[in-house]
Amino acid sequence: MSANEKKKILIVEDENNIAQLLAVNLMLGGYDYDIAYDGEAGLEKALTGQFDLILLDLMLPKLNGYEVCSRVREKLNTPIIMVTAREEEKDKILGLDTGADDYVTKPFSIGELMSRIKANIRRSSSETVIKETGSDTHHGDVIRVRDLSIDLGKYDVTLSGEPVSLSKQEYELISFLAKNLGQPYTREQLLEKVWGYEGFLGDIRAVDVTVSRLRAKIERDPSNPEYLLTKRGIGYYLK
Ligand code: CA
Repeated sequence: MSANEKKKILIVEDENNIAQLLAVNLMLGGYDYDIAYDGEAGLEKALTGQFDLILLDLMLPKLNGYEVCSRVREKLNTPIIMVTAREEEKDKILGLDTGADDYVTKPFSIGELMSRIKANIRRSSSETVIKETGSDTHHGDVIRVRDLSIDLGKYDVTLSGEPVSLSKQEYELISFLAKNLGQPYTREQLLEKVWGYEGFLGDIRAVDVTVSRLRAKIERDPSNPEYLLTKRGIGYYLK
């Protein structure tokens, strides 16, 4: 793919006026787009088209956003931004492992949404480059913390030799903290360095949710962690 090829975004949205508003802004932002007006059509397009990012409404006819998201995730790593109608819906889905990379709440600011689209595409394309060259440049680059082992070349995490199944976001957070062992970071810093947001665009609760999911997977007692620790008043670090 050439560098100046337009990025293509799938809009899955049943409200026509919102879909059109998104389409116009994506076009002005230099993106190609396609629109699906219900969950089934969205899933089919997501799986058959080559999209760089999916904007996925939560409340959709035929198949809702959760179902579309988890079924896309069985096959593809395309970044997904979930669009929810209310803050409380967003709180609810932040607690679920839907596989979405990011969440925005309606009504959203177009400027903020465009920044998030850019950050998510940038993060996913830099990962592809790392994966493609990984076996050469990072071969044998494994960080070990007692029983925890993080293979930066293979994207593998093991605990006492047993593989730990992590989402992309969980993997990115733990590998970032592992590369900076013992160094605490604030949630805002982690949003910037791991999630790729500039300023305060992201939602710091996303960091807390990812930390608690990671703890549930790697800690013997998640309420009394030994690896992923909280530095009181500052943030998180790996020890
Ligand atoms: Ca809707």
